[in-house]
Amino acid sequence: MTTTNIDRLAEQLLINHDLLKAPVKISKLAKSLGIRVEMQDLDDEVSGFLVRKNNQDIVGVNINHPENRQRFTISHEIGHYMLHINQQSLFVDYYKGDKLFRKNSTRENYLMERQANQFAASLLMPKKLIAEEILKLPEVLDYEVKKCQISLKFKVSEQAMDFRLKALGYYDYGF
Ligand SMILES: [Zn+2]
Repeated sequence: MTTTNIDRLAEQLLINHDLLKAPVKISKLAKSLGIRVEMQDLDDEVSGFLVRKNNQDIVGVNINHPENRQRFTISHEIGHYMLHINQQSLFVDYYKGDKLFRKNSTRENYLMERQANQFAASLLMPKKLIAEEILKLPEVLDYEVKKCQISLKFKVSEQAMDFRLKALGYYDYGF
């Protein structure tokens, strides 16, 4: 699945659930999808997991992590739910530099993790909403300031927003 398709799939999901608004209400989306979200006291290096058990999908989130990271974790697990849950029934995700990954990653796992990270970014920072927010900001502000303000609006880390803005090509054009 290409990056553009992931963007479209995430946006459509938000539209279907009437949640295409910043900040995206990610727990509400999980609930609407029938996923149970549980805050758990996990090892610090574990961000969260998705498990399908007895036909119930459960997302576990590290209760000790900052809220922005928890939001990203839930979004990442929704990515696994949308794209990969039929291939395997358990995903345990570790945290590293604002990306999630699985240990002992095979190439196939690596691709799934990359897709789930892209999906999470598309879900929390929809392309359309980012474009709208950028238009609202005074043009004179520099990239760092805009990035900071937009990340607050979307309730994501600055690092996640930086990655997303660059992926969408905003940095190159000095928006
Ligand atoms: Zn993952």
